[in-house]
Amino acid sequence: MATTGRDYYELLGVARDASEQEIKRSFRRLARELHPDVSQEVGTDERFREVAEAYQVLSNSETREVYDRYGHAGLRGGGFTPGTFDFGSLSDLFSAFFGDDLFGTGGARRARGADLAAEIEIELVDAARGVVRQVPFEVAVPCARCGGDGAEPGTEPVTCPTCSGSGRVQQVSRSVFGEFVRAQACPTCGGSGRVVETPCSECRGAGRMLEERRLDVTIPAGIHDGQQIRISGEGHAGQLGGRAGDVYVRVRVRPDPRFVREGDDIFSTVDLNVVQAALGTTVTVETLDGPLELDFEPGTQPGEVRVLNGRGMPLLQGFGRGDHRLLVNVAVPRRLSDEQRALLEQFERLSTDDTYSADEGFFEKLKSAFR
Ligand SMILES: [Zn+2]
Ligand SMILES: [Zn+2]
Repeated sequence: MATTGRDYYELLGVARDASEQEIKRSFRRLARELHPDVSQEVGTDERFREVAEAYQVLSNSETREVYDRYGHAGLRGGGFTPGTFDFGSLSDLFSAFFGDDLFGTGGARRARGADLAAEIEIELVDAARGVVRQVPFEVAVPCARCGGDGAEPGTEPVTCPTCSGSGRVQQVSRSVFGEFVRAQACPTCGGSGRVVETPCSECRGAGRMLEERRLDVTIPAGIHDGQQIRISGEGHAGQLGGRAGDVYVRVRVRPDPRFVREGDDIFSTVDLNVVQAALGTTVTVETLDGPLELDFEPGTQPGEVRVLNGRGMPLLQGFGRGDHRLLVNVAVPRRLSDEQRALLEQFERLSTDDTYSADEGFFEKLKSAFR
């Protein structure tokens, strides 16, 4: 069943009496515009699907006739099913349609450069704020000595004997679109259509050199360990002026000994001694934003959790921040002098049940701290 209700001629921007050539030309132009490698706009993949569907129907005289007479309903009735488009193989699909590459101008194939991976490690506090870091990586760039064709200056690459310079070897196959000639990159010349007889002394005929580069990478606040940032077009150089690949920077967030991160929340502990807990105290705790003075009420219990709202990690997608949860740890004396022991014994004699009785709803408070 058709996936679009829009008029196929309108989608392709051609008149109803457009020739086969006009339809083909229009589809080529639109496909180049809408290909995700080229277009940064949102929603273009959906538009491409519609345009490709329109092309499928109008490029075939039978389905075009059905569509002209009966519209979308006619095609549905005839059991027309548009192909599904996988962008990974779009270039293949394109070469299936036209026998050449999506971005090619006919002739030799302009291969897109390979993607490359880089890695960078940042501190948790930097992940909390967002940070710009220089990331070093090695990238293949066109060789300056030979200008990228791989031939020693003064010599010329010669036409590839396998493919006679077309860069492609052809294979006939059948598919839902009918029988067509499928072009594949020539194995001898790798698709360039030419082979080098006297290789450039600098790049040994590769036409490309490794170059150390540094990129300023903006790492967004709230990034999680292991996430990747894609930097478009900074990867390895393409062949014959093809588009460069992308750089994928994997961000490692180093664990911070003071904090435990869980999702967007931060956990840490605060140590009070038994006297501070009993009498109440003010202590300085570490947070992602730096030291923070906190008051603890008299009678603070071990295991209490203090929630610092909005002091956790920023939300990577969206606004606001997670929480910081502080777990209270109460240290009990381990070694007592005689005098201390005597004082504690005296304290115990003066204690009643009331000394240790819980306030209203301590357990409820504890539960709510854990949500
Ligand atoms: Zn060279
Ligand atoms: Zn070849």
